[in-house]
Amino acid sequence: MTERTLATETLVRTRTLGRVRIHALEAGLQRLDGGAMFGVVPKPLWEKRIPADERNRIPLALRCLLVETPDALVLVETGLGNKENEKFIDIYGVENASSEARYPDRLQEAIAAAGFSVDDISIVIDTHLHFDHAGGNTFRDTDGQVRLSFPNATYHVQRGEWEWAHRANERTSASYLPHNFDPVMEAGRMKLVEGDVEIIPGVSVYRTPGHCPHHQSVLISSDGEVGCFLADVVPTMAHLPLPWIMGYDVEPLVTLESKRALLKRATDERWLLVSTHDPFTPWGYAVADGRGTKVEEAA
Ligand SMILES: [Zn+2]
Repeated sequence: MTERTLATETLVRTRTLGRVRIHALEAGLQRLDGGAMFGVVPKPLWEKRIPADERNRIPLALRCLLVETPDALVLVETGLGNKENEKFIDIYGVENASSEARYPDRLQEAIAAAGFSVDDISIVIDTHLHFDHAGGNTFRDTDGQVRLSFPNATYHVQRGEWEWAHRANERTSASYLPHNFDPVMEAGRMKLVEGDVEIIPGVSVYRTPGHCPHHQSVLISSDGEVGCFLADVVPTMAHLPLPWIMGYDVEPLVTLESKRALLKRATDERWLLVSTHDPFTPWGYAVADGRGTKVEEAA
């Protein structure tokens, strides 16, 4: 198989959606077990889409989205952050260090490359609180202190996800690391939202449960165009077929219905789908393809 270029090699991609500019920020890579990522799908099928390494792991982007609305600079997701130890970094094959020492991680370097500072961000949206989506909410500074990465921001997550993260069990607890989110609440910066709500004009959250019971995707609307940050309801573009559902999901049949509803709207309205984890394709337009969905390349 020919080596395809990983999208994560480009730090920032920028395009317009209606009248707003959006930036795909490549906050690094992690590597997770390919079998776990594709659930019941046999390896001969999934490895054609994303090849595995010698430890059966596949590369996954840690992509975040920066949205310039007239009212606020919004950051959707925060990647994995810099607080984990070497053993963790090895197990999950994490590559998210900045090439410049002044940035604690690659996300903060990407924000600067897009022309902004962490102080400019006034809204952060966590789709859920797993370490590879909310780990960059906070960072460890050079003195070893855990601090908020976006000190002027109000962070948003579903109330149900907050509660779920705080009653983790043997199956779910490895994904929820309190230093990623408890300091945000302690600082009075965490806002718990309930249901599908508009966060600011043009940016709303859309519940897509299944991966976890209160998982949310994010919709950006401007001038008749809609973009959707999918997060883990469709973690890579290879997961567009309805039965391609992660083994990690706590309620896979709920994921199935979340996907069915989301992809129907997405193809009917030609949404720009933004992928969190796809290692090759950061975004693309949803179009119907027979009984399924595919994405058309978008610049
Ligand atoms: Zn994830």
